[in-house]
Amino acid sequence: MSQGKLMPVEEALASLLAMADARQLDQSQELALDQVRQRVLACDLVATLDLPPWPNSAMDGYALDLAHWDGQPLLVAQTVFAGRPGTPLQPGTCARIFTGAPVPAGADCVEMQENVELLDDGRVRFTQALKPGQNIRPQGQENRAGQVLLEAGTRLGPFELAVAAAQGCTRLPVVRKPRVALLSTGDELLEPGMALREGCIYNSNRTLLRHWLDALGCEVIDAGILPDQPQQTRLRLEQLQHGADLILTTGGVSAGDADCLGQVLRDSGRPLFWKLAIKPGKPLTVGYFGQVPVIGLPGNPASALVTFGLLARAYLQRIQGVGEVEPLGVMVPVAFDWTRAGSRREYLRARLEQGRAVLYPNQSSGVLLGACWADGLVEIPEGRTLQAGDLARFIPFSELF
Ligand code: AMP
Ligand code: MG
Repeated sequence: MSQGKLMPVEEALASLLAMADARQLDQSQELALDQVRQRVLACDLVATLDLPPWPNSAMDGYALDLAHWDGQPLLVAQTVFAGRPGTPLQPGTCARIFTGAPVPAGADCVEMQENVELLDDGRVRFTQALKPGQNIRPQGQENRAGQVLLEAGTRLGPFELAVAAAQGCTRLPVVRKPRVALLSTGDELLEPGMALREGCIYNSNRTLLRHWLDALGCEVIDAGILPDQPQQTRLRLEQLQHGADLILTTGGVSAGDADCLGQVLRDSGRPLFWKLAIKPGKPLTVGYFGQVPVIGLPGNPASALVTFGLLARAYLQRIQGVGEVEPLGVMVPVAFDWTRAGSRREYLRARLEQGRAVLYPNQSSGVLLGACWADGLVEIPEGRTLQAGDLARFIPFSELF
């Protein structure tokens, strides 16, 4: 492990993904549709139905056989509602039809009711030019039976679940949840509800990460707070390596005397990398303890947020089989000058105002509130300066959940 030079973000990401590829979760389980939100699909979802299953009307109107029509008004011989199929169209007639209703056999055109004149004798006159197939949604317009609708590795959100429901699915196979042991380190930490003691702060990282892990389909093993004590740190890691797919920690990875987590990982585990060219989040430490991967996030809340969002998240996505793990970024003009080129890649909490990225005024890694104010992160590459109006990559927070 190189100690001197800072590791570029891409290299750290590639290393985490290689680690994840070797530890893909191969067990899956089949669960009811309403229990799989935010889980990852374990096998391709293949359509069993054409959708729509039969041609249906896109409008409230009248269905006719345009190919054999003489242009004269037509008798309305039947009414077809959604869910109640009609009968084949008799020559010289049309059918009253409503949106979503199956188009009767023999009809090849639907005219919307606004373009039709009802005559006193009960017939309808078509007042506009008609085209074959108009206002008919053909069978299989959306998909054909046998088509792959969702690939294995897709995370199941509302859209994907609705697609499965449209096929009549009641259950889906999903990758088993990664078990993540979540450990907060720091003598100064108290849990909310405890009386605040001098010199102490409440543990916010645990709440941040518990909910974030949950959104990523993980099972959280809450391992509580660990004091800054090497012996206890080693013991706790030994306990946690059984039954966890990942040990995720916060704090204790800088170079200070009380930073035990990093020390123990370096002394008793197998460190892979430490010290990244990223700001905030430089002390991120990754390695193995026994057979279990450990991702040691820095303790500062904004550092934990940035390194989890950009790196640990990608690892967790990939072990679940998600192919596309990098968040989508968009290039946006910045509303600020960035005059000092940094040696680390910076991620700044920012908000879009009139299409330009505006920075939260306090970018300290200890400040969490900026993340609530912001819509995402602006990325400033190493060695770059910017003037207002220059483009920078903006990663919306919505991409990270
Ligand atoms: P460390 O990475 O342990 O040196 O911690 C860096 C800073 O983050 C210190 O100011 C810690 O008090 C703070 N910190 C560490 N862990 C947490 C946590 N779980 N919640 C809130 N702040 C924390
Ligand atoms: Mg600490």
